[in-house]
Amino acid sequence: MAKNIERVRETIVTFCERARRNPEEVHIVAVTKGVSPELMEEALECGIRAFGENRVQEALAKMSLFSKRDVTWHFIGRMQRNKLKKIVTHFHFVHSLDREDFGSVMATYLGNLGKKAYPVLVQVNLTGKATQGGVQEEELPELLRKLAGLPEIRVVGLMTIGPLGGSEGEIRRVFRRLRELRDMVNDMAVPGIVLTELSMGMSDDYHLAVLEGATILRLGRAIFGERRTP
Ligand SMILES: *Cc1c(COP(=O)(O)O)cnc(C)c1O
Repeated sequence: MAKNIERVRETIVTFCERARRNPEEVHIVAVTKGVSPELMEEALECGIRAFGENRVQEALAKMSLFSKRDVTWHFIGRMQRNKLKKIVTHFHFVHSLDREDFGSVMATYLGNLGKKAYPVLVQVNLTGKATQGGVQEEELPELLRKLAGLPEIRVVGLMTIGPLGGSEGEIRRVFRRLRELRDMVNDMAVPGIVLTELSMGMSDDYHLAVLEGATILRLGRAIFGERRTP
């Protein structure tokens, strides 16, 4: 695994150079669905500091094992209403908010916990695949305006999933579009909204995401190898 992580870091540096970016702007979230605690421990020893999970129950079990460690937990999966309380209670960061009503429910729970400005990314669906989740881009400004009214939540960026199996050109177009949307939103100057983060790029396409401005890469197989349980 040390070799995998080394390779990922080298790839980030190489593609940052091509894009004239500072590699320090690019952060790795190690996606640990289906990954054993032993392998997660090894990742921590290699300097990984953020884990991403899309299954709440699986994540909670792992969190209790790593509770004394300096790790940030990112929720990256489809959100379900009945999981929102657990998500905001135990995760530090959410990548996949795409509905105003879920934002309101999160805000209520966060208020009860005394938390303010909880960082979330809004997921945008740029491939038209309904199974992937995410708000349609036409609906993004409206959603952001509504979420901006919730002080318990702070929208800090956008997330997308690239077209799986797409050509290099198609994938880059999707990632470029997410960056353009971020810049457009910032130009619109919605009160309470400043977007800095772009969560895009997975094991097969993160080099392209780096070229297009990704600040957070969500990497599973590139770090841990092929998953046994899908
Ligand atoms: C599983 C998953 C990843 C990581 O996928 P890899 O191809 O293993 O890098 C990233 N983002 C989301 C939303 C995922 O579900």
